[in-house]
Amino acid sequence: MKHDDRSDMLARIAEEFARNAYRTGLREPDPRVHAAMARLPRERFVPPDLVPRAYEDSALPIDSGQSISQPFIVSLMSSLLRLQPHHRVLEIGTGSGYQAAVLAGLVREVWSVERLPELATQAIVRLRELDCRNVHVRVGDGHLGWAEHGPYDGIVVTCGGERVPGALLDQLAPGAHLVMPVGPEHDQRLLDVTVGVDGRPERRDVLGVRFVPFVAAAAPLRAHFELFEQQDHVGVRGFGATVAEAFAQAARGLTALSTDPGRVRERRRVDFSCGATDSQHLLAQWLDAVARTMRDEGLVFARFEVRIESDLLHATGFGEPIDATRCAREWAGFRASADAAFVGLVPEGWLAQCASAL
Ligand code: SAH
Repeated sequence: MKHDDRSDMLARIAEEFARNAYRTGLREPDPRVHAAMARLPRERFVPPDLVPRAYEDSALPIDSGQSISQPFIVSLMSSLLRLQPHHRVLEIGTGSGYQAAVLAGLVREVWSVERLPELATQAIVRLRELDCRNVHVRVGDGHLGWAEHGPYDGIVVTCGGERVPGALLDQLAPGAHLVMPVGPEHDQRLLDVTVGVDGRPERRDVLGVRFVPFVAAAAPLRAHFELFEQQDHVGVRGFGATVAEAFAQAARGLTALSTDPGRVRERRRVDFSCGATDSQHLLAQWLDAVARTMRDEGLVFARFEVRIESDLLHATGFGEPIDATRCAREWAGFRASADAAFVGLVPEGWLAQCASAL
């Protein structure tokens, strides 16, 4: 890649701003946005075969049939948000993580929701590698926003829907901007929405755009636990919309098991797992709680797995009578595996404990 590919991209963005100013109302990009994009290696966000095209001013395909937005559009949407360094921003549709990384250089905190776990995982890894520590990614349905951390000083939706979801408007601070492509697939308009103190949204049509669809919500996961028996182990599985809820269900399952000790004693292992549509950021908390339960039972994990299946994140610990060496070996393997994205989220003490057992 040529050294000045990135400056060519920035020059083209500036031209596009000038060309579209009569529609967008912005003659040039917000200088802080422009500077953030000048610092960011876009080639790290595209598939390997598209690296030579990373600085073209065009959207490019990424995994799972999605796309990384056109640089001009990223700059325009970020500029429309009118961000300040102390702001906290919500993004819907993490995708490659590029837009989130641009925002990370502009504001205090970025919260980003992605529907597809495989994209969220890749983005988490990438953002860690680039040291974007103020971006928080979760797997979830963007129609619901991320209520715990709202209200936000800006919301950017990077997939196109029929209307602005009410939950997002509810999570927007008064006077803050929400920027989203709205309309049928072939006739989307980029809208700049603000909500006044009277609670009434005001919409401004900025530009015609083309984004991948904002996919309708999956049916909410019913919180429940399952008990199962296999030849050498009994299992407890908790499910819920959040990891905390899934864990609470799994704990209920454990209690149910403990009222039937014969079932446990005959077997050497208890398989303990949770699935949740909420994500990684709660995983550490989850692990901690499982660890405590297991220790109280005189067990440590001899095997540990984190895997993603469809839209469920599973963390499975296999408790066995203490075998610290094997435990440490498994951890070492886990750390080196492709799931490394989660390793940093594992409580530090755990790794140290395992390492010292080696
Ligand atoms: N901001 C991204 C662009 C991603 S494309 C970037 O800079 O690369 C839009 C993304 O929205 C896709 O990854 C898609 O999976 C995601 N998406 C679609 N529907 C969603 C939903 N209901 N909730 C959350 N994300 C969704």
